[in-house]
Amino acid sequence: MLRTVARLSVWVALLVASSALVVGADSQSMTIEVDARDLPRKLLHARITVPVPPGEQRFAYPKWMPGTHAGSGPVQNVGGLRFLTKDGKALDWKRDDVEFWQFVCVVPPGISELTIEVDYICSQPDANSRGVDSFGNSLIGVINWNTCLVYPFAWKPTDVSPTLSLQLPEGWKYATALEAHEEHGGIVSFKPEPLDELIDSPLICGEHLRTIPLEQDFAPALLHLVSESESATNLKPELIAKYANVVAEAGDIFKSAPYDTYHFLVTCSNDIPANGLEHRRSSLNGVGERDLIEEEPIKGWVGYLLPHEFVHAWCGKYRRPAAMVTGDFHTPQHTELLWVYEGLTQYLGEVLNVRASIWELDHYRRHLANDISFLKSQTGRQWRPLEDTAVASGQLRERSTYWGGLRRNQDYYVEGKLLWLEIDGKIREATSGSKSLDDFLGAFFAVDNSKLPVSPFTFDELCGALEAVAPLGWKQFIESRVAETQESLPLDVVGLLGYRLQYATEAPEYVKDREKERKYVATLDAIGADVGDGGEVRSNIVPGSPIDVANLGPGTTIIGVNGRKFSNDRLKDAVKDSVMRGNIELLVLTGDTYRTVTLDYKDGAKYLELVRDDAKPDYLTAICAPRKRS
Ligand SMILES: [Zn+2]
Repeated sequence: MLRTVARLSVWVALLVASSALVVGADSQSMTIEVDARDLPRKLLHARITVPVPPGEQRFAYPKWMPGTHAGSGPVQNVGGLRFLTKDGKALDWKRDDVEFWQFVCVVPPGISELTIEVDYICSQPDANSRGVDSFGNSLIGVINWNTCLVYPFAWKPTDVSPTLSLQLPEGWKYATALEAHEEHGGIVSFKPEPLDELIDSPLICGEHLRTIPLEQDFAPALLHLVSESESATNLKPELIAKYANVVAEAGDIFKSAPYDTYHFLVTCSNDIPANGLEHRRSSLNGVGERDLIEEEPIKGWVGYLLPHEFVHAWCGKYRRPAAMVTGDFHTPQHTELLWVYEGLTQYLGEVLNVRASIWELDHYRRHLANDISFLKSQTGRQWRPLEDTAVASGQLRERSTYWGGLRRNQDYYVEGKLLWLEIDGKIREATSGSKSLDDFLGAFFAVDNSKLPVSPFTFDELCGALEAVAPLGWKQFIESRVAETQESLPLDVVGLLGYRLQYATEAPEYVKDREKERKYVATLDAIGADVGDGGEVRSNIVPGSPIDVANLGPGTTIIGVNGRKFSNDRLKDAVKDSVMRGNIELLVLTGDTYRTVTLDYKDGAKYLELVRDDAKPDYLTAICAPRKRS
């Protein structure tokens, strides 16, 4: 018996070995030929050649794209899909009627290879696909390989290294983290890399492409800019130096990099949507055409865009919540730890931005006060914990048109940032300033090359790493912040950082700039909602505020203020004059109905601000102080 069993084991081993030959790495050769010459006409074509066994075969179009936090691969924009045998015969296929990203076709006997032709229609993203979509116009383009890719469903993207080639419109240049192998006859061939790494490496291209090395003594970093206008890529040397500072400051925290060379891929264009998407060795950043050469835009989100996406190389790409590491592009990701992935990145992206001198500290303080004002208005926290905005991230990318504060948005970004500021403040307070979140960051994100490209983590591991810096019972504290509903926004962070909140009666420059840029009047802190330039009451209405009590809703337009026709200045004056007058009278239009309402408000103009509390250490200033150049 024993002998028989032994013989059986040999047979089992042989069978396993032979089946491994059928489905193993050798059989997973794949070539992807991308023809981007039609990008100016917003089309991308790909020919993917793969070996296939006969019988019913399932193929996948990438659905769960890293960085989008949603199952949003833009399969709806596929404009052609053909499964061809070597002699050019097209096979019938059927889409899975539940998983629209999967296709099934029957491979006839004797066929061992298929060429899959994909035509993709560019430049029509939905809210969740902007960062992983492809775009094109007559002068520039963005290629995300996932948009024109269909591959055998059973293959593990980590186990197959396709041969990729690309043909661009004549005269166009390109930038990507992928390494070119050779260029011949206008066709670029790239060094084979695992499919997941390839998909993690988008490409920008165009007639005018400028590459600027960011000089610093950490790992190499390149800033690649493409624009319809050559002048839009002529950044001032001071701004280039500040971006180099970002890299140097990050290097000072992390000490090691999860990449050899980092590529900031930037489109400066009014045609390609504003967006940012992280990758391990690069980031795709979309800003307006003149955003990096004019003074104003950098004061807004453009200022922290590149630092934010850069931080993701460590937080989100190299170290990622374990439930978001699936090994393929069709298994759903569980996103409840996005308050780390995005919240910590938001915290550090903004802090690096100030440490690198892109923003002044005072500007950052104003920005924080504005965020606190916004988060205070998110009363949806009374029914929906912060963590739930992370779990349901894919549904919350677009802001709610009406009653945004009740529904909540992707609050794990901004409220997550506030939580990490609080964690930093608590560490500093407990250690009298001798330790900080930097100590946690340096240890938790230290790069172990043997674990690249991704080292997953759990909530317990994260708490353990915080305990190692300062044993303060982090698990319980963090759960109370993220997993529980809140009556109101916890504001301990303000005192911890050495500040208190008060209302200014004059709008700070930060608010005035924002009003101009976003075309509204900032009356949220005063009457309970902001008002658009045309008099429209904005989506976010604070329950119990004068606007709410007067039964005004989003979609209502203010036509008149205190007996005069509405204008931004008249509304501001009326809010100010409420101190003397004791109320504000509005003529409003809701649908087809006019009515006059009186707001019971007499507190004048109010703008939340952070004011220094001299009795406490100023940890906010300490957090923002440059390390590298001090
Ligand atoms: Zn992010």
